[in-house]
Amino acid sequence: MPIGTNVKLPDISFKDFQRFFDSYCFAENGCWIWRKSKRSGGYGSFCIGTKKSYVASRASYKIFNGPFKSELDVLHKCDTPSCVNPNHLFLGDDFINQRDRVSKGRHDQAAKTHCINGHEFTPENTFICRKQRCCRACQINRYNKRRIKNGKNIHRSSRIDAI
Ligand SMILES: [Zn+2]
Ligand SMILES: [Zn+2]
Repeated sequence: MPIGTNVKLPDISFKDFQRFFDSYCFAENGCWIWRKSKRSGGYGSFCIGTKKSYVASRASYKIFNGPFKSELDVLHKCDTPSCVNPNHLFLGDDFINQRDRVSKGRHDQAAKTHCINGHEFTPENTFICRKQRCCRACQINRYNKRRIKNGKNIHRSSRIDAI
């Protein structure tokens, strides 16, 4: 049964985003395993804003791939409901497109070992976003820059140097 469908995900703030990145750990097989509270079936539960919680893998899909129709199911290629690695997620009606895009992205960039800012493309630091291989450290830096621009401090948990 599809989990969390027909529930519109709200906008995800910087604070929510930071909390998202602090809420999983890396499994050897590449899964990002949710380590906060879970729903039945093992799906991660992620609070956006102050009160309401949403299915973490659906929030992950939105963070990395952008908004999607709420009636579509977000499925796991890895068969691990608690996984929130966007590389392992696909939309119910989009499996073939997604698979083709991902394999093309890999093909184009397979030779690169580091991002343009010199972070290594390790399994922990890499995700596929809009058919590009992306760097997690840069993604966090972008959010922090936006935050600095808005006159706020860097969240203490964003340890870019340690990545
Ligand atoms: Zn996975
Ligand atoms: Zn980078």
